[in-house]
Amino acid sequence: MLHDSIEYLKGVGPKRAALLQNELNIHTFEDLLYYYPFRYIDKSKYYKIKDIQPDLPFIQIVGTLVSLSKVGKPRSKRLVGKFKDETGTLELIWFKGVSWVAKTLQVNKQYVAFGKPTIYNRKFNIAHPELELFDAKADTLSTGLEPVYNTTEKLKANWINSRAIMKLQRTLLANINSNELPENLSEEIIRKYRFISRFESLNYIHFPKDEEVIKKAIDRIKFEELFFIQLKLLLLKLDRFEKIEGHEFKELGNFFNTFYNERLDFELTGAQKKVVKEIRKDVGSGKQMNRLLQGDVGSGKTVVALMAMLIGMDNGFQTCMMAPTEILAVQHYNTVSKLFAGMGISIELLTGSIKGAKRKQILEDAFSGELKLLIGTHALIEEEVKFKNLGIAIIDEQHRFGVKQRARLHTKNEKPPHILIMTATPIPRTLALTLYGDLDVSIIDELPPGRIMPKTVHKNDSNRLRIFGFLKEQIKEGRQAFIVYPLIEESEKMDYKDLMDGYEGVVREFAPPQYQISIVHGRMKSEDKDYEMQRFINKETQIMVATTVIEVGVDIPNATVMVIESAQRFGLSQLHQLRGRIGRGADQSYCILMTDYKLSSDARLRIDTMLKTSDGFVIAEVDLKLRGPGDIEGTQQSGLIPLRLANLALDGAILEEARKSALKLLEEDPHIESPQNRGLNRFLKQHKDEMIGWSKIA
Ligand code: ADP
Ligand code: MG
Repeated sequence: MLHDSIEYLKGVGPKRAALLQNELNIHTFEDLLYYYPFRYIDKSKYYKIKDIQPDLPFIQIVGTLVSLSKVGKPRSKRLVGKFKDETGTLELIWFKGVSWVAKTLQVNKQYVAFGKPTIYNRKFNIAHPELELFDAKADTLSTGLEPVYNTTEKLKANWINSRAIMKLQRTLLANINSNELPENLSEEIIRKYRFISRFESLNYIHFPKDEEVIKKAIDRIKFEELFFIQLKLLLLKLDRFEKIEGHEFKELGNFFNTFYNERLDFELTGAQKKVVKEIRKDVGSGKQMNRLLQGDVGSGKTVVALMAMLIGMDNGFQTCMMAPTEILAVQHYNTVSKLFAGMGISIELLTGSIKGAKRKQILEDAFSGELKLLIGTHALIEEEVKFKNLGIAIIDEQHRFGVKQRARLHTKNEKPPHILIMTATPIPRTLALTLYGDLDVSIIDELPPGRIMPKTVHKNDSNRLRIFGFLKEQIKEGRQAFIVYPLIEESEKMDYKDLMDGYEGVVREFAPPQYQISIVHGRMKSEDKDYEMQRFINKETQIMVATTVIEVGVDIPNATVMVIESAQRFGLSQLHQLRGRIGRGADQSYCILMTDYKLSSDARLRIDTMLKTSDGFVIAEVDLKLRGPGDIEGTQQSGLIPLRLANLALDGAILEEARKSALKLLEEDPHIESPQNRGLNRFLKQHKDEMIGWSKIA
């Protein structure tokens, strides 16, 4: 019955069903059941208008609608109602659905208004309140706590408001018994956490008795959501471990030793050594490695990756390294070519702009096995790229790649290659456990010695002249500077104009021939980008004006100043990534965050965080709290996580317990076949398609 179409629920029918499907993605009874309220309001409490204060949650007020009028221009019409009780008046405002709302309301009647008061022009008002005739309160569904469901203006226009959804939930739950919502956790887990049953939980969430019960019910469902994700990820890992053989890299040979003894001109940090050990253990185990390497910008991940590749080549395998941008791929290619020169390793670069005979040759050599090391962009995962015996694949700055793209590396061989994924965007633990819970994780938590942290300051436009002066001083001392502009897809045109205006301003201030300026942005042809980049790397130019294309991985130790224009518009991890481009040499470096005078509170927190810390993990945590997991830089795939109640930014403690429980379960019952896990197994099977394999690399 839970999988029946929502159309057949009493009170729905074809027309409303279509609306529920289109507006809320509710197709079945089960979808409705899992459409949870986003908050509760206390219906037993009424507020008086004079008692309204800032920061109140949703409240209800009884009063009379004394007037109602449409104001504003035709294109931006608002509906404004005056709402009065014996203590004062309040404005009610609608910006959307103006005509139909006006039609549904009657002036001089008594209503109950629900909504969240806000201050505008020093007066309180409620935007888009729900109004209900006061008389109608006689048949109110509940008098205590009432669930509030998200709806849309379109739904409301068709009489499907929060209360209508509540009624549908009531109808649905009245027709479901506990057999139809069987327990899906083991008795052991239920006992351990003193969970209430699944059936009870769902009932209480939609029909709350009191705050305490709501919390119990919500915690249990959150646990369940997180637990099944963890279980699936760990099963995936287990399954891979049992089924997939890996190439066994038995020995360290000439390549590795020559590099380590002759080419490496610094001592590895303790953290780098530890990670190299972890990788060696993996690739020597006969199992396929799937490892995520997290390390802050500048922590020295590249050299670790190179050593892993050398081990692969020592054992007769081909290797490849994929980077998210052309600039970065070229940079890796140059570094690697230099470091490995004369070692007898054939190395090629493959990007979208390499065409014709050259491309054909590279493809042939990869297929014949002639080519040992291929570096490139997304071009590497295209169908036409085939290897003879790819042994290990490195994915740099993985967050720029989608899951599917990563998965395709797997198919480059009969036996999948070892995979090392590297990210410089430290991911908060909750997110890492959820997005990469099936991978092994290494962390480089130590920077190479002697690194001097960039000094970060916050300035606004009135300081610009002094900042330019400072840039000139630095340039006089032989340093180079970045000036970065935002380029956001939604406002690309404007941003592009800002960039060009900015560039012209910079050119006026730093006139050639004394100063030379590079510019790099996404609209340029990649040859031109590379040319400009190369000029900067060669110190032919002193200033690089750029958009965030330079964000990832670019390594120019002589660049000591970074000015970030409109810094308030960048995300926190993006700012952190950008700042990571400087402070790579032996000199003090400076990051200057330019903003408007006025900042939103979120923007202020982002800037303050940048001023306070350079610890990528701390920054990632703040970012997660600010933006929520769905929107974190580079983890777009998190949108695929089937979480309805649990929130990765807030429910870390529950996640840890869920992970622990899943681990314990699989330790005791790896194939989930013991009688006490029967319900759990059934549920898992029923929902096995729900995770679209987002973190699955295979
Ligand atoms: P990221 O982790 O951001 O990719 P890179 O691998 O680009 O960092 O390394 C940053 C810089 O630090 C490079 O110039 C690299 O040669 C240097 N480096 C890496 N490891 C060490 C080390 N152990 N000691 C000194 N310098 C190092
Ligand atoms: Mg890097």
